[in-house]
Amino acid sequence: MHCPFCNAQDTKVIDSRLVAEGEQVRRRRECVQCGERYTTYETAELVMPKIIKQNGNREPFNEDKLRAGFLRALEKRPVSVEAIEASITRIKQKLRATGERELDSRRVGECVMMELKELDQVAYVRFASVYRSFEDLSEFIQEIDQLEQTGK
Ligand SMILES: [Zn+2]
Repeated sequence: MHCPFCNAQDTKVIDSRLVAEGEQVRRRRECVQCGERYTTYETAELVMPKIIKQNGNREPFNEDKLRAGFLRALEKRPVSVEAIEASITRIKQKLRATGERELDSRRVGECVMMELKELDQVAYVRFASVYRSFEDLSEFIQEIDQLEQTGK
């Protein structure tokens, strides 16, 4: 990285160590040109992307909201809390793995649908019917037909 003092492009690392219980790398750097020393910290970026809502507003990813959506769809269905939590973890990993800083809320919805499809067919149809706001009834019926054909 550029030297913050003289903006030279070449700096060398003179010391490197793990800090914050190994979650951070602290590097001592020295500018090749002006000889100034400074410290940089490196951490993995584990923040969730911001969610772009349908009206264009951005909001922070909200795990509680995601969980509430699952619970609503799975109300009175024979699915364990562990299975739901595993689904939520998978979705978060998937969203992070995109590397995007912002994601369309639709992407989250599609992830939820994929997980529900595996967890419970009734919950899947419940969620899909609300979430996708099917344009007309035939589209909804088509979706159910597809489910019956795949035998799930
Ligand atoms: Zn410098």
